[in-house]
Order: sequence, then structure tokens, then C-alpha cells
Amino acid sequence: MKDEKPEENRTITKRSPVTGEVLGEFAVCSERQVRQVVAKARAAFRPWADAGLKHRLAAMDRVKNVILQNAEQYARRISDDTGKPLFDSLITELVSVPLFLDHYRKKARKILAPRKIPTPIVFQHKKSYLEFFPMGVIGIISPWNFPFQLSVIPMISALIGGNTVVLKPSEITPITGEIIREMFSEARMPEGVVEVVQGDGSTGSALVNSDVDKIFFTGSVATGRKVMEAAASRPIPVELELGGKDAMIICSDANLERAAKAAVWGGLLNAGQMCISVERIFAVEQIHDHFVELLQSEVQRLKLGGPQEDADMGPITFSRQMDTIIRHINDAKSSGAKIITGGHQADRPGTFFAPTILADVTVDMEIYREETFGPVLPVIKVKDEDEAIRLANDHKYGLNASVWSADLKRGRRLASRLECGQVMVNDVVSSVSNPALPFGGIKNSGIGRYHGPDGLLAFMHSKAIMVDPGKVKHEPFWFPYAGKYDDALQAFRALVQGRLLGVIGPLKRMNKINRHHG
Ligand code: NAD
Repeated sequence: MKDEKPEENRTITKRSPVTGEVLGEFAVCSERQVRQVVAKARAAFRPWADAGLKHRLAAMDRVKNVILQNAEQYARRISDDTGKPLFDSLITELVSVPLFLDHYRKKARKILAPRKIPTPIVFQHKKSYLEFFPMGVIGIISPWNFPFQLSVIPMISALIGGNTVVLKPSEITPITGEIIREMFSEARMPEGVVEVVQGDGSTGSALVNSDVDKIFFTGSVATGRKVMEAAASRPIPVELELGGKDAMIICSDANLERAAKAAVWGGLLNAGQMCISVERIFAVEQIHDHFVELLQSEVQRLKLGGPQEDADMGPITFSRQMDTIIRHINDAKSSGAKIITGGHQADRPGTFFAPTILADVTVDMEIYREETFGPVLPVIKVKDEDEAIRLANDHKYGLNASVWSADLKRGRRLASRLECGQVMVNDVVSSVSNPALPFGGIKNSGIGRYHGPDGLLAFMHSKAIMVDPGKVKHEPFWFPYAGKYDDALQAFRALVQGRLLGVIGPLKRMNKINRHHG
């Protein structure tokens, strides 16, 4: 992907990942156009921020209604853009936005409200408060795998707090970028509050280098690094939602039928092109062989096909991703992994890859260390769950994970030991759709959190305020210092020892010295 300056008058040709036919040409936004659009968003910021939360939530209700009215049309076009089944476009792309909007309609006022904060006794008579104010213009850069929800959820989160937004959708899925532009326009958002700049990496780079106040980036680690580096020069805050290599740990007492179905859905949903895809299955040795058999029978039932074929699994959306999948599988094979099923491109037109199960996967293989982003389930045999936890944590990614056990206390204990942003016990993936739970990664999986209260606060500055009634002339700690040291020491000791009343006497005496000096 290009990240040099975007030239004027370039276009992106969008092809169907199912048939290869050309679906449209999309103009690439130049650096000059990005600057103009950001200036428009800057001009719209103050009126939008000052319009108040009620006004903004009413606008969000209009967005929700537009989604409801257009759900079928949007699902079809998102599926044309990505190749994913219509069911996935509806459930994993469209449904989550109204869920989040409903949640924030109920919670935003409380999350964003100014709050009273405790004040230590040494600051007698003062009161402390915390309040939040919007950052300004937020640049949002999104990927192609869930191009609707990974753009719209950060957008609405930023908008609710009073920010304006410029979205740079992925060049691989420009049709969805247009849907988002139309959706906000149909919801009658004021001019400049929501802008969409189509283009590739060069447009993304122009956005990061423009007059935005924060960048919210979802994509690969390599691009995330570039975004952070560019943002450092101003400097502006960045939030990075990056890749994963999610562990699924199957204990011997797990419901294996359920776990196998979950592994297949969690690993092959959206043809495995998902940051929180199941990508490392740790099965303890007692149940390993039986579990692999169950996986195999589940995978054999899957139907591959395009959105018109009522299939379970669609094509690889971004054709270059195919090279990574094939490279990882070849490396695994030559290093001793066993292909249980699949392992090759599907025998049909379009960029389809057969759903694949790999057994005997070991930690030195590329398929274990790197994100594959394809329909592959690598299984690793472990002695026990302690070994699984140790291996799961000994990895550069830390996004999502799941643990499987009939003993829920044990499940929770294991979940607590995992180093990542979120864990499910006896389920996969779905926690990302609970709007009340924060989402994000650690290590190479990213920096920052959104969703839940963090989702709104990610786009707000906090401001600390302390108020004194302003009636007395002096503070005990102000000049002059002469004659106050012993009392200050006494106050310090009382404070550190938790004898709070012991602080009051020395403070009074220090104030008396102040008065004496006029
Ligand atoms: P990518 O990094 O190639 O592109 C992401 C976006 O960045 C695109 O819009 C692209 O045009 C833009 N971009 C490219 N170069 C840029 C630059 N120099 N400056 C600014 N923007 C630039 O990623 P992708 O292939 O679209 O997405 C797949 C990756 O995203 C995977 O690694 C996946 O795990 C990750 N992902 C993470 C999450 C999450 O929430 N953690 C969710 C989905 C996908």
C-alpha cells in the first residue's frame, strides 16, 4: 500500500473478490483535499461541541434509524465489497452499531458528566472536580475486514462527546466508505461534522499529518508504527487497534462439542480475516485427538461461497493476503505440521481458500508466531493448562483469548492469568459486541481502549479543577517560610501516619505566622 503523498486525480479500481468483476472507480483524496476537508471539520467543531449532548444524541438516533431503514441494502453492498456472507454483514457489521448507540444513549450523560473528586485534608476548604471536553477533529483510519463497524463505532464514540470526524476507510473496501458517507448525510449531520476521505495509505498518511487532534487507527502493526511515528512529530495522541494471535485453551473437562463448534466459528468467521480470530488452539493431551476429530467433522460441514450462495464462508477479501496464508501453511508443513483438512486454495473462481485444520503445530513455526488472517485453525498439543497459559502469554500479541472448562471458577482463574485485552470463558469473540465492556490489546496488539466508558473518554481531554472559596488572604504553604519548618514537618508526619486530625494544628499555626506577617 502506498504511503507517499497522494497525487491529484488518481482512482482506485474496486473489484469483486467473488467474481473479479470491476465494481467501481473511486477518486483518491489528495493531500490538498485532505487538508481542505480537515479545515471544514475544524470549522464545524465548535458549533457541534456547543450544541450539547441532547442535540448530538438526537443526531445519533437519526443514524440508527437510517441503518434500520437501509439494513438490507447496506448488508448487500458490504457483502459486495468484502465478499462476506450476507448473514455476517448483518450480524457482525450492522447490528453492533445500533447496540452501541442504544448503550451510549443511556450511559453517555453519566460517563461524560463532571464529577466531584476527593480533596486531601491539607487543602482545607477546597473542592475538586473533574470534567471532560472534546479533543477537536478526530482522524479515523480503518481496515477492510469489518469496514463498517470498525469505522462507525469509533466515529459515533467521538461524535457523541462533541468531536468532529474525518474517516479514511480502507482502499480495499471503498464501497463501504461510500455507505458511511451516505448514512451520515441521510441522518442530516451538520456540514463538516462527518467527512470521509477515500484513498490508500498515502491519503491515510496525509490525514495523520494534517491538522487533526487525534488519530484512531485500526489496522496492521506495520502501519500502526508508521502512524505513531508520524503523530510523534506534532505530537498528537494515537490509539492503535492492531493484530492478534488469539489463544483458545481447551481443558480436559471442557464441553468438547461446544468448543469445537466455537473454534470453527471463531477461527473461520469472515474467512478468519478478523483481529480476534481464534488463531492458536491449545488442546490438553487427554482430549487432543478427539478434539481434532470433532473440529474436522465441523469443518467438513461448512459451505464456501459468495454472498448470493447462502454460504458460511466467503472469499479472501484482499487478494494479497492469500500469499501470507499460503506461505504460513507451507512453512508449517515443511516444519512438521500435519494438514488435517484443507491447506490449499478452493477449487472455484474468486479468491477462496479451503478451511484448514493444522495439527502438530509448534512454537517455532511462522503460523504460530505471525498473524495469518485466513481460514486456518492451528492446533497445539499441550501437557496441561499451565503449559497452555505459559505458551499463550509468551507471544508478541495480546488481544483476545478464550478458556474452556466445565469448572467456571477454574475458567475465571485461567482467564485472570492470560496477558491480553479480553478473555471469554466457554465462548469466543462475542465479548467484543458487549458495548459496556472495553476493547483493545496489549503488546503488539495495540495501545488504548474503546467501547464501554473508555470508548467515549478516548476522545475527550480531562480537565482537573480545584476551587477555593477565596475568602482568606493566605495559604499555610505560601511565603513567608520563616518559622514554619517544624510545623510543616509535624503536619507531614501526621499525614503520612494517617493521623489526619494531627495535621490541623500545625496548619493553623502556619496560618497564624501568615497573619502575623500581614
Ligand atoms: P493496514 O495497516 O494495511 O491498513 C489499515 C488502514 O491504514 C487502511 O485504511 C490503509 O489505507 C491505511 N494506511 C496504510 N498506510 C498508511 C500510512 N502510512 N499512514 C496512515 N494510514 C495508512 O491493515 P489492513 O490490512 O487494512 O487490516 C488488517 C489488519 O488490521 C490486521 O493486522 C488485523 O489484525 C488488524 N485489525 C485490528 C483490529 C482491532 O480492533 N485490534 C480490528 C480489525 C483489524
